[in-house]
Parts: sequence; structure tokens; C-alpha cells
Amino acid sequence: MLAAGRAAESGAAVLLLEKTEQPGKKLLITGGRRCNLTNDRPLEEFIAMFGNNGRFLYGPFKVFFREELKALLGRYGLQTSIEPDGRVFPASMLSRDVVLVFNRYMNDHGVKTQFGARVEGIDVDHGWVVGVRLANRTIPTRAVVMATGGASFPGTGSSGDGYRIAERLGHTIERLRPALVPLVVNEMDCAKNMQGVSLYNVRLTSYACKAEDIDPSLTPPPADCGRGIAGRRPRRPIIESRTGNVVITHFGISGPAVLLMSLAVVDATEQGPVSVAIDLKPDISEQELDQQIRGELSYHGQRSYQNVLRTLVPPRMASALANLTGVPPDRPGHQVTAEERKLLTRCLKSFRFNIQGPLSMAAAMVTAGGVALDEINPQTMESRLVRGLYFCGEVIDLDADTGGYNLQAAFSTGYVAGERAASGIPHTQDSP
Ligand SMILES: Cc1cc2nc3c(=O)[nH]c(=O)nc-3n(C[C@H](O)[C@H](O)[C@H](O)COP(=O)(O)OP(=O)(O)OC[C@H]3O[C@@H](n4cnc5c(N)ncnc54)[C@H](O)[C@@H]3O)c2cc1C
Repeated sequence: MLAAGRAAESGAAVLLLEKTEQPGKKLLITGGRRCNLTNDRPLEEFIAMFGNNGRFLYGPFKVFFREELKALLGRYGLQTSIEPDGRVFPASMLSRDVVLVFNRYMNDHGVKTQFGARVEGIDVDHGWVVGVRLANRTIPTRAVVMATGGASFPGTGSSGDGYRIAERLGHTIERLRPALVPLVVNEMDCAKNMQGVSLYNVRLTSYACKAEDIDPSLTPPPADCGRGIAGRRPRRPIIESRTGNVVITHFGISGPAVLLMSLAVVDATEQGPVSVAIDLKPDISEQELDQQIRGELSYHGQRSYQNVLRTLVPPRMASALANLTGVPPDRPGHQVTAEERKLLTRCLKSFRFNIQGPLSMAAAMVTAGGVALDEINPQTMESRLVRGLYFCGEVIDLDADTGGYNLQAAFSTGYVAGERAASGIPHTQDSP
């Protein structure tokens, strides 16, 4: 929508082809329908959120970054507000207001639209784009911006068509993987018993080994180590470690900390077994926790073990913990042995799951991989293989953590692609 609007604003006659009944369906559901548009982080940190591929974005960001985005939204009366953590939202906190602005931007500049129009291919002649193919006709054109999105949340229209079309034109598609995705565990019965448990501010660490092989002497680094900080890394004993919220689901684990860690885990599962450990009491040491538990067990000596556990963890987790430690849930607290207490302490400091893999591509918030960056000119977003073909958004091999980075990348690359597609339409003497 931004690419179409900018191309029309730059003087081109533009037709937006959208396969669903309306554009911006995914935009509508972003940020819990509040649309986390962008982020206020310094540029270098912003770029680092995309891992090593982030450097590609210096070009598009130079032309259209968050200030330009805010100015465009402001032109249509939509102000933005910044959360204390740097995330930027429309001040109205309504994603539909962003979609409305983009629709008005397109209308103002005369973009024509056709809905229910699924593009099946792009015709190329002597290295130049010459047409766009729909099921029943071909539309002649000299420039196309491919803004088909990724392969996740296909109900919004993005089902991976762009990758197939680009590949047929000779483009390399870097391996597609689900990112920002819930994880399925092997211990599904255990997860099912704890379904719905929310764990706040726990420490989640992923390991490149089976759960039973986690080396207890490996200490997660004190600060979060995500790819935003460290970049994509080779397989090593600790894959990533983050403090945040985790939700136990009927199939495994989800929640912000899990989603942020998921791509590194998905990549690591392709090379061998992967497990995660949740430190449910990250603010205290194992010894301190052991003392606290000893106090609870003797203070509530007549209460059942399971009831004492409920003072330490959410109720639905208590029976799972009783199972894990092998202590009968109805045993009075004062009869729990020192050894059983130690085992409980270890479980609370390292509650482990073996990871089976990601939930599915459809459930991922973002698709990692896509059209190879070295085949796109970052100054223009034009394909280096096919003249007149431009790429923007998630179809490109760019993805970042949650926080507004993915949308800003889509907006920036879209704006540049639209502008350059309009100006790059070959003059008669250049064309084949
Ligand atoms: C639940 C959810 C929440 C998210 N929240 C945020 C957030 O708050 N902040 C953030 O930065 N990112 C968020 N993201 C990620 C972000 O939405 C995407 O990265 C972004 O929408 C990508 O934009 P895009 O224009 O490349 O693709 P899309 O927004 O997916 O748009 C692609 C469009 O192309 C159309 N299309 C596809 N194939 C064809 C075809 N063959 N012919 C015609 N039309 C076609 C589709 O129907 C669709 O309308 C979220 C993602 C999800 C799933």
C-alpha cells in the first residue's frame, strides 16, 4: 500500500493487485490490533535487531525511516505515541487507523485497486519486466513491486506466492523458516497438564542438547543474549538466554520470551537435539531457594506437599512438579526428605523440556528467509536479475524480533521500491 501510494505520488499510473478482498489484512492484526509501527531505538540497535542481514536496511532507512513514517501518518492526522520500552504505536492504539491512512494515501494519488486478483507470475522479456499474469489475463507493465509478504498467517493473504514467483524468475530464495513462533515440546502430556500457566519474568535458556544432558555447570549469561545483541551464532552449548514471560500451552511453550528465542531454536533443531530450561526463580540462588523451601515445608509441616508447592508456583504447575520430583502429592510437608527437597530446588531452577520443533509456519508471526539480499539493490530495491522488478517487505530475506522492526522494514523498503519503480520505468530509448 505504501509502495503503491508512493509510486503514484511520484507520477506513475499504479494498479494495486490484491488477492484477498481488501489490502492490509495482516496490518490490521498487528500488535494485538494496536499496530506496533516502529521502534524508537537508536539506528544501530534497530539495524542489529535484524541480525547480520540488517546492514541491507541502511539504504532504505536513509530515504524513509521512522521520522518520515510519522510525518506521513501525521499528514493524515494520525499521531503516534512511544511506550517506555521504545515501541511506537498510533496514538489511537488502533491498527485500523493505520490501514485507513494508507488507503487514503493511495486514493489521494489515484492508485487503482483490484481485489480478488491473485498474481500468478511475472512476464519478462530480454531481462525486462513486460507484464503481470493473473489467472485469466496478463496486464502489460514495465515495472512491478512485489509486496507479497511471507508464508505465515496465510489467512491474511500471505501464503508464500512471492517466493515461488521470484524463484521462477531466477532469484535465490534463502531457506524459509518460521520465526516468532511457539515451540512444541516432546513432553506434551506434562505441558497439557499445565496448559494456561503463565510464568512472569522467568529466565528461559535454550541448550543444544537433550534436556537430560544439560550441563548444570553451564551458567546462562547475566544479560539477555538474543540475536539482536549477538547476531546469528553458530551452534554452541547455550543457544540463547532471555528473561521474560512464558506461557505453557497444550502443545508446549509460547509467550514473548519463547517467540523471541524461537528462530535460534528452530535453526538449532536442524543440527541436533535442543532443549530449554526455565528458571522459575531467577532472582535467587539455588542455595537461597533451598532455604526458602525448607522454611515453607517446616512452617506448613502439616500441609500436603502439593499445597506447599502452591505457595511456590502457579497451582496447575504444582502437580506437575510433584510428579517430577516423585514425591506423593499428599505427603505432609515435614516428611519431605532433604534429597527430595534438593530435587525440587533443581526443578524450580531448571524446569526442562525437549524441543520437538516450531508449531507451524502458519502460526509464525514472521517468515525468516526469502529473496536473497545480494540479488536486490538496497538503494533502489530493484532486482539485480530482472529490470523493472522491485521487492519490498517480508518477501525479502529480512526478519527481526518483535518491537515494530518488521513493519518499519516493510514500510521503508516499500516506500523506496514504489518511488524507484515510478522513476525507473524505462524511457523508450532504454526499453528492449
Ligand atoms: C499476528 C501478527 C502480529 C504482528 N505484529 C507486528 C507488529 O506489531 N509490529 C511489526 O513490526 N510486525 C508485526 N508483525 C509482522 C508484520 O505484520 C509483517 O512483517 C508485515 O505485515 C509484512 O508486510 P508485507 O507488506 O511484506 O506483507 P503482508 O502484510 O503480509 O502483505 C502482503 C499482501 O500481499 C498479498 N498477496 C500475497 N500474494 C499475492 C498474490 N499472489 N497476488 C496478489 N496479492 C498477493 C496478500 O494478500 C497481502 O495483502 C506481525 C505479524 C503477525 C502475523
